[in-house]
Amino acid sequence: MNFEKVLIANRGEIALRILRACKQLGLKTVAVHSTADRDLLHVKLADETICIGPASPKESYLNIPRIIAAAEATGASAIHPGYGFLSENADFAEMVEKSGFIFIGPTADTIRLMGDKVSAKRAMLRAGVPCVPGSDGALGDDINENKKLAAKIGYPIIIKAAGGGGGRGMRVVRTEKELEEAIALTRREADMFFNNPAVYMEKFLENPRHIEFQVLSDTHGHAVYLGERDCSMQRRNQKVLEEAPAPFITQKQRDEIGSRCAQACIDIGYRGAGTFEFLYENGQFYFIEMNTRVQVEHPVTELITGVDIVREMIAVCAGAPLSISQKDVHIKGHAFECRINAEDPQTFMPSPGQISYLHVPGGPGVRWDSHIYQGYRVPPHYDSLIGKLICHDDDRELAMARTLQALDEMVIDGIKTNIPLHKDLLTDPTEIKGGASIHYLEHKLGLDEPQK
Ligand code: ADP
Repeated sequence: MNFEKVLIANRGEIALRILRACKQLGLKTVAVHSTADRDLLHVKLADETICIGPASPKESYLNIPRIIAAAEATGASAIHPGYGFLSENADFAEMVEKSGFIFIGPTADTIRLMGDKVSAKRAMLRAGVPCVPGSDGALGDDINENKKLAAKIGYPIIIKAAGGGGGRGMRVVRTEKELEEAIALTRREADMFFNNPAVYMEKFLENPRHIEFQVLSDTHGHAVYLGERDCSMQRRNQKVLEEAPAPFITQKQRDEIGSRCAQACIDIGYRGAGTFEFLYENGQFYFIEMNTRVQVEHPVTELITGVDIVREMIAVCAGAPLSISQKDVHIKGHAFECRINAEDPQTFMPSPGQISYLHVPGGPGVRWDSHIYQGYRVPPHYDSLIGKLICHDDDRELAMARTLQALDEMVIDGIKTNIPLHKDLLTDPTEIKGGASIHYLEHKLGLDEPQK
């Protein structure tokens, strides 16, 4: 390891997950936190802690100078960004490296390449990764050209912001007469929200699943794929329940798409853990974007492959070669992850507050990744994710039964959680049969399709 001390630039369950991986690798840890997060579990367990500002993320977890200053003050050698916050901010990655620290993730150039969806798609097409049919790059201003292109792709189509994220900056167009206005509106939004007016066009897939491939890549020209996850159970573009492997995907499909993703990593000089997100419809995969960081749902892949993704990503960013090669990767059994949120299970309103009683399930094949404990007060300032219940067993049916049983054992008092929603989902006949498209959960909940 060419570094000794890691600063964790995140909070909640992922900060704890990173801390555990660092400890296992014999690395010292620095926990940075806001004034609202003094009581976080990883803050109690870290070797050093440093308060970087008030509760507002802008003044703490998103404040680049304060995080760099904390790394300098504590003599950290590397910074792990976790997910969310600054994890996919190329300027942050650049500043980290320019200040002499190692960024635990890809280089700023790679983040930039993949952060712009137009350049990302281009790079993927070059690497032979299948993409959604669409415009070759950003759209020009000639409406007749754009009309021709849309007709060639075939309606419905979707106009998307090249710099978009978080499910914003996209618009579905079903007929030619809506096209001009849709492009203009999306362009304006893209400029306003993402500071980049470039938009592009794609075929709109009506009922796809969301299937994503996990990769790991080192700086010695090796990359592996760790199979895929199905994350189709979503509400407002937020994943709720994830599983691995994806139902109905064959080993042949896995190898075909996975090996292209791994090759793409080698082509772009990728470093660390990454995810290729695809829409999957009628037996075809269509790349939509790459996440250049560790993901919330990485544990389902860890449970079916036995690979510690966070440990590997830290090691490869320290310059070590991957500890595994593709022939060591075998998928065993099935795993589900329930994202447990502090929210009202009916209205989805956040439910912060103190946890008056906590009982977590255990036993074989049950994993609980969470920073909460009895007496902990869930602050109102951040994402409502308070823990992830991940269960593994020999096959999908057994894994489902195990997850349900674990949910039954779990008690979180004092705040509301979405545990009832998970129980409902895991006993849903469609889910039992292998799940459905990305729209299923919203239809089930009686919500309209989100405005795209
Ligand atoms: P973001 O970075 O905002 O998450 P994505 O490109 O990943 O943007 O798209 C977010 C979601 O929008 C997808 O998960 C899917 O539900 C929908 N979507 C995006 N592109 C298409 C498409 N071509 N056809 C159908 N749905 C799409």
